[in-house]
Amino acid sequence: DLTAYRRNQLQNIAKAPSVPRKTPKPRVAEKDLINLIVVGHVDAGKSTLMGHLLHDLEVIDTRTIDKFRHEAARSGKASFAFAWVLDETEEERERGVTMDIGRTSFETSNRRIVLLDAPGHKDFISNMITGTSQADAAILVVNATTGEFETGFENGGQTKEHALLLRSLGVTQLVVAVNKLDTVEWSFERFEEIRNNLSVFLTRQAGFSKPIFVPVSGFTGENLVKRMDLDWYDGPCLLELIDNFVAPQPPSDGPLRIGISDVHKVSANQVVVSGKIESGEVDKDDKVYIMPSVIPATIKDCASNNGSKHYFAGDYIMFTLQGTFEPESVQVGSVVVKSGPDTLIPSRKFQVRLVVFEIATPIIKGAKSELYAHSLCIPCTFTKLIHTINKSNGEVLKQKPRFIAKGMSAVVEIETDHDVAIEAFTSCRALGRVTFRSGGNTIAAGIVEKSITPQ
Ligand code: GDP
Repeated sequence: DLTAYRRNQLQNIAKAPSVPRKTPKPRVAEKDLINLIVVGHVDAGKSTLMGHLLHDLEVIDTRTIDKFRHEAARSGKASFAFAWVLDETEEERERGVTMDIGRTSFETSNRRIVLLDAPGHKDFISNMITGTSQADAAILVVNATTGEFETGFENGGQTKEHALLLRSLGVTQLVVAVNKLDTVEWSFERFEEIRNNLSVFLTRQAGFSKPIFVPVSGFTGENLVKRMDLDWYDGPCLLELIDNFVAPQPPSDGPLRIGISDVHKVSANQVVVSGKIESGEVDKDDKVYIMPSVIPATIKDCASNNGSKHYFAGDYIMFTLQGTFEPESVQVGSVVVKSGPDTLIPSRKFQVRLVVFEIATPIIKGAKSELYAHSLCIPCTFTKLIHTINKSNGEVLKQKPRFIAKGMSAVVEIETDHDVAIEAFTSCRALGRVTFRSGGNTIAAGIVEKSITPQ
């Protein structure tokens, strides 16, 4: 019986003592690392804002900007000059939308910021999820232009959906950039109107405890890296607020988790893969296990994107897994772990707390969906609707609801088609964030509260 055999294996792996740390201390970064995501309704000015900020920080050299500006002028879309800095492909440039999560990093006085630029286009929400699932903090950009804030905030706009998504994926630090204030002559009344409306939603419905609002113009660059002179605002500029984001607990001390996001080369007894170390550390010749297949392997030929010889949480690495296993045992979505009491035990049943998006048909018991978590994508079923929750205070609203409709928050039990390597959000943030899609739409997102392992 394969299952019994695997269960036995898992028990042995979990019973084995933790692998002692090789290096006396984890690498201490000079500056705390913050993964920052920028979200907001399409055309709110996200790309322009971040492009301008990066330009002012001299992250992007003027020649690149000039080149983009030149190209933009040629195609008659000059206002997109800054936006283009972040957009990568020719196709995106022609369409004028940011399609994928671009990765740019920059430094503030006290932080190193990895910028995950999220697209605002409705079709691209899944890309945003990829970004959000790595984010420690977020900037929500809203458009202060008359009538435009309302478009993004009302039905069909993405402001609310993005905010709920952030919160449901465990992002708690939020700065709201009230953008394009140059179009309303830096009106205090307009800023206040937006702040009042949005903070009611963000605190009471989305559950952010203290969102911070900052007046900016991505176009003129005012209040981005330098405080501006406004008679009604003497608070920090956007850069100072970014510098104040707090890094999550350093995960280097935690147990090893490498989420495999690419399988490059398969040959006899070895597979070359790459992925991100979500927690812990790893070295060449380490003995590891591949989950959920519970296969032992040895790490060979490791290389990281930062050239270091030690590999810690936060690093993207490419490495060879060597051992006697079937190539199918290693897949995108597999997770590499070490033995010890805090090893990852794969499961197919999980208790999940989620937020349901704008969906036409409510979720009922037995409904099917696709589950996304780290690089994993797998069919799943909503097996139990446990209770619905009041989003503003977390109280239970209704036990065993018959359905979960749009906008609701709930705790459910789900079951995947086979065992997967995900776990409680509290054990590993990256492996505990999940989203659900159905018919090409994101229907819900949330965090794993616990995995329900078979007895
Ligand atoms: P995104 O879809 O949120 O990334 O928005 P973009 O950055 O592409 O900006 C959309 C449009 O708004 C572009 O035409 C920008 O030039 C314009 N825009 C962006 N920020 C500002 C701003 O602060 N003031 C003004 N007046 N226009 C802006």
